[in-house]
Amino acid sequence: MKHIRLLSLLVLVPLLTACKLRFGDTLYEVPWWVILVLLCAVLLIILVPALKNTRRVWFTCPGCNRKFKPSSAVLLFSLHANDHCVLKCPHCNQRHMCAPSYDQERD
Ligand SMILES: [Zn+2]
Repeated sequence: MKHIRLLSLLVLVPLLTACKLRFGDTLYEVPWWVILVLLCAVLLIILVPALKNTRRVWFTCPGCNRKFKPSSAVLLFSLHANDHCVLKCPHCNQRHMCAPSYDQERD
């Protein structure tokens, strides 16, 4: 019973409440679910191409000249400068600014 109350609170409160947004002189009342849907859409638009790109990229360590493929999460949250990334090489365990190279296959 406690879970049902908590679940209904988590689902119904955002549906019943609204956020007031002012554009110029006009005040709009936007439901929270609209903001949540727009936020999810923006995240999908950003993350889907980024994750798609991480599947076909390899990096070459400038220290040992060996290639490695980091996980998508490591790649997304690593420090970037243009297309180079600061990554820890799994072979020599050193952090370097690594140059990317892409798989030849197209999708
Ligand atoms: Zn290395």
